[in-house]
Amino acid sequence: MDFIDLKAQQLRIKSEIDLGIEKVLSHGRYILGPEVQELEEKLAVFCQTKHAIACANGTDALSLALMAYEIGEGDVVFCPSFTFCATAESVALTGATPFFVDIDRETYNLCPKSLRAAVEEVVQKGDLTARAIIAVDLFGQSADYEGISAIANEFGLKLISDSAQGFGTTLNGYHPTHWADIATTSFFPAKPLGAYGDGGALFTNDETLTDLLRSLHVHGKGRSNYDNVRIGLNSRLDSLQAAILLPKLAIFSDEISKRNDVADRYTVGLKEHVSRVPTVKQGVVSTWAQYTIEVEKPDALSDNLKASGIPSARYYPTPIHMQTAYRHYPVASAGLPATEDCIGKVISLPMHPYLDEDSQDKVIESVKAAIKA
Ligand SMILES: *Cc1c(COP(=O)(O)O)cnc(C)c1O
Repeated sequence: MDFIDLKAQQLRIKSEIDLGIEKVLSHGRYILGPEVQELEEKLAVFCQTKHAIACANGTDALSLALMAYEIGEGDVVFCPSFTFCATAESVALTGATPFFVDIDRETYNLCPKSLRAAVEEVVQKGDLTARAIIAVDLFGQSADYEGISAIANEFGLKLISDSAQGFGTTLNGYHPTHWADIATTSFFPAKPLGAYGDGGALFTNDETLTDLLRSLHVHGKGRSNYDNVRIGLNSRLDSLQAAILLPKLAIFSDEISKRNDVADRYTVGLKEHVSRVPTVKQGVVSTWAQYTIEVEKPDALSDNLKASGIPSARYYPTPIHMQTAYRHYPVASAGLPATEDCIGKVISLPMHPYLDEDSQDKVIESVKAAIKA
């Protein structure tokens, strides 16, 4: 059994992918070719956002968002610690200070209460400037954008949605850019919408910001090719990845619905047997980047599952604020109790749209047997 089965998906759309690759090889515009523009247009439509800008990866997408707001030394960006390191890395790279905030114990997403306390603390102290919030749609579930955007508005902070795992998630029918100034995503192969290499994108409804991001992702280009008007990055999506993503995007809604079927079935099978099955807030459609449960002994469960040929993964055993490069950054003064409580319990099970019911049953029965043992 695969943790994520990319081969089954490939079989489904192989001829479209081959055709797309052939087309790129024949026109030869490998960088920023017509596929990239077509993909940007279709991504924007998919997530009900006016503008999409494709770039080299999800980490760059975050960096570009921060660069667009000229965030740097002396600035603070609030973010969760229970996430992939890139969320905070992008902040640290600009010279700004990532400020780690606790998560909601049920959803693993940024906790508005902890966020408010952290913002108030920074504002009161006054030595650093509170500038932005990065909310993460962890494991594919929309963050609490209603609660978070209210705080962003109150304190005049930019709201960036790190939707690397959550592209396609909705809250009350809205994608993150309904609340966030910019949303970013990643097309790393294992993400719900993954390429066959690195890729990423930014989404915004603001046209001026779009022009700025388009300049920033090509070395800060100006109107003429050789007048660079600002310092930027070289962060483009290549045409081959766009050609591969187009047929994947065409079936993405169907895949999200299939992932939800798998998740529903897991939840029914496991809810009486493990400490916690995932909590999806009312009104949210998750993309199920991960199906994550909690048990008392996740490492033992992982070993047991492995013996039955079932892969599992533990995200994220060391939250960012405990990692060597990030230990010196500030955390909410009440600490991060929810973050530190869940790290010893979470374990993610195989999840992809093509996981058949027999395999789902095998996972469910194996988890149950391991817990009882
Ligand atoms: C994967 C991921 C990123 C980074 O994406 P890359 O394309 O690998 O650079 C950022 N944030 C989160 C939450 C992620 O899961």
